[in-house]
Amino acid sequence: MEVSFEEAVRIVASSLLFDEAWYRKTYRVDAEENAAAHYLTEGYAKGWNPSQYFSTEMYLLENPNIRWGGTNPLLHYEIVGHRVGLYRGHIPEGILQRYRQCACCGNYVSAYLPLPSFYLEEISKYGGKPGHPEMVNMTDYLCPWCYSADRDRAYAVWMKRELTEDFSGTILDIAPAPSLSFFIRKNLPKADYKTADLYMEQVDYHLDIMDMNCLADESIDFFICSHVLEHVRDDRKAMRELHRILKKTGCGILVVPIDLSQTEIDEDPDCTDIGERWRRFGQDDHIRMYSRAGYLARLAEAGFHVLQFQKKYFGTQAMYENALTETATVYIVVK
Ligand SMILES: [Zn+2]
Repeated sequence: MEVSFEEAVRIVASSLLFDEAWYRKTYRVDAEENAAAHYLTEGYAKGWNPSQYFSTEMYLLENPNIRWGGTNPLLHYEIVGHRVGLYRGHIPEGILQRYRQCACCGNYVSAYLPLPSFYLEEISKYGGKPGHPEMVNMTDYLCPWCYSADRDRAYAVWMKRELTEDFSGTILDIAPAPSLSFFIRKNLPKADYKTADLYMEQVDYHLDIMDMNCLADESIDFFICSHVLEHVRDDRKAMRELHRILKKTGCGILVVPIDLSQTEIDEDPDCTDIGERWRRFGQDDHIRMYSRAGYLARLAEAGFHVLQFQKKYFGTQAMYENALTETATVYIVVK
């Protein structure tokens, strides 16, 4: 498997067998250096260990072909070694049992990466509070392989269960996430998959979701529109447009950031103050924060029926594998 250096750094950094604090202290790696990158380049060549639980040298002794191949031992273990029991060493049973499979890319992780601290720092810098997000796993957020967020993994689980491999309808993916594009192309090969965005370069349609005149009425079988409406000036208009282009038999994933501690939608499309946007809407390019009830009311107003897929639907296994939170909800809209 080809892994870029950037990916390798993420995979090592997220591994439960990489103990950054221990590594820095033991080998005196200073704070300016990226510790995972250091282990991948200099550290392992010197026979240094990523943590007390993993011996670089022992792994190479047990698996000489890896030494000749030049792959970093921990990276190799994360990619394939743990699955085939290449190394027992001193790895605690508790860690061995933690390997989970990301629904988006199919790779295994011992831990997902946390939400980048930047977001919470910005919110707090401007006097805001993170509230109670419906579907953000702060600690197990990103897949180190495909960069899927927990919500993307939830959609992948849903699509795997509800859309068969033979699905040959038209899919419109608005503001496509690379991890999900990859998932769709791999798992739904017969679908007529189209991407759309207002700003992105490499998409099939450059469009404004409030006015999708390039798409005919009832022409789409399935759409994905995730975390888009909170950026859009008139979200009611955008919802009406999504309703218009959807076939009578079609459906769509339509998800927005929801703060469960809010009772009403807080919005101001004219607000241009960056600090206020961070404080009230959680990001500098958002113009609203949804309440759950407010969101459902707007969807109904646009003519949608809404199906909600939650914990009970996902089941303990998929919840765990994909690090979904207790309140994770996939909203599927139908006509
Ligand atoms: Zn993944």
